[in-house]
Amino acid sequence: MTSSFSNLSLAEPLARAVAEMGYESMTPIQAQAIPVVLTGQDVMGAAQTGTGKTAAFSLPLLQRLLKHESSSTSPARHPVRALVLLPTRELADQVAQQIALYAKYTKLRSTVVFGGMDMKPQTLELKKGVEVLVATPGRLLDHIEAKNAVLNQVEYVVLDEADRMLDIGFLPDLQRILSYLPKQRTTLLFSATFSPEIKRLAGSYLQNPVTIEVARPNETASTVEQHFYSAGDDDKRRAIHQVLKSRGLKQAFIFVNSKLGCARLARSLEREGLKTTALHGDKSQDERLKALEAFKSGDVDLLVCTDVAARGLDIKDVPAVFNFDVPFNAEDYVHRIGRTGRAGASGLAVTLVSGSDARLVAEIEKLLKTKIEIEALEYDDERPQGRFNDGRRAWQEGEGRGSGPRSPRAERSERPERPERARSSFRPAVVARDPFFDKPYEAPQSEAAPGWEAAARPVRSSTSPNIKPRRKVAALFKAPAPEAAQAQDA
Ligand code: AMP
Repeated sequence: MTSSFSNLSLAEPLARAVAEMGYESMTPIQAQAIPVVLTGQDVMGAAQTGTGKTAAFSLPLLQRLLKHESSSTSPARHPVRALVLLPTRELADQVAQQIALYAKYTKLRSTVVFGGMDMKPQTLELKKGVEVLVATPGRLLDHIEAKNAVLNQVEYVVLDEADRMLDIGFLPDLQRILSYLPKQRTTLLFSATFSPEIKRLAGSYLQNPVTIEVARPNETASTVEQHFYSAGDDDKRRAIHQVLKSRGLKQAFIFVNSKLGCARLARSLEREGLKTTALHGDKSQDERLKALEAFKSGDVDLLVCTDVAARGLDIKDVPAVFNFDVPFNAEDYVHRIGRTGRAGASGLAVTLVSGSDARLVAEIEKLLKTKIEIEALEYDDERPQGRFNDGRRAWQEGEGRGSGPRSPRAERSERPERPERARSSFRPAVVARDPFFDKPYEAPQSEAAPGWEAAARPVRSSTSPNIKPRRKVAALFKAPAPEAAQAQDA
């Protein structure tokens, strides 16, 4: 199979846009999916964000839509022909931006609608007419109900990050949206995993799909050093301080399993002197963007987030990822630690395991097909947690590992002074990822001393109308419910 875009016979405006993006060759999902989508067949693709899947579906879609190009200003000449559905606002925004770049030399129009923003500017765009509409399900339904979006001429629909959409509870919304579309259409479904629910969804809405699989869910980057430390719930924050300090880390993501836990942890870490922000499903779009910018610019050191909120983050290659909670779904472990150690950079993934987590760790072992050793973390500082509130970053008080002598207390410790790596028997699964095209983490330029925020931002009590609590997906398919709604609060 060819991997050069030039062999695809893309129309000149699309080929020019691709050349301008600087892409030299196709990624594996592109090499496999583009020729299939160009023939108009349905596709079921297993690929995660970061594999180049946006171009994999949007370039052939745009190519097939070129026959509808019109320079007319009449909205009637620009009906929605392709609909791309995504679970989160950030993902919708990112995908829409990419599509706009690929379509920039065509007369095809595209726009994006998602919740948390005023509907009026979105309505104006929709009323002008667009061929490609990128949307989150909840907001799209709002526009359908307001008669701003008419979908009876849709020829292509893309269900992107379909597993996440089901996790969030978007199945009923998806079913409603799909009921507005013509039966005669091409449907493309992309999902990180092919769970039974995803297969049912595909069975209901795809016709003889071509299955394309490029990134297996049990792949974890070989460059990620993974540790599982035993830590009781009361010790977990202290463990974070210890690892940040001993490794001399400046920034990290911290994953938690619930929105409430996310807000609470961020507040506690902030009180303990770490510049922290929380990112979860109840944050407004504006708050999310601000949190992201603050992390990118180095104004915050720690981003505490839930899986759903993190899914839309366009930040990869962060120096370290902490799993404050062991994830409920083993696949989420792979997604989480995929944030670090990309493109040859070494990354650190630390999972804090409490007594009740044995079953979840066993699930991860099963997925990674690797025996996980739970290690004991050595603490330099014997002070109890909660005493890091003196305005200093506790983990920057002393010398980092390898950068000087350890604290006297550590030197007096009876425990052997061995590097953490040597104590671990856990070796990550081997991987062939496509790291070269991920947006790399860029360490903030600013070396300025951290300023302490008075308190963590208050958490909005209301739930976003478009991020619905997880439902029992299997029940909606009239099948036995999966495990209790453990991720309800994600
Ligand atoms: P995606 O998985 O679609 O979110 O894409 C991840 C990133 O890869 C985006 O920043 C794209 O611009 C970039 N990208 C997509 N295709 C290629 C390619 N063939 N070569 C290099 N970068 C690419």
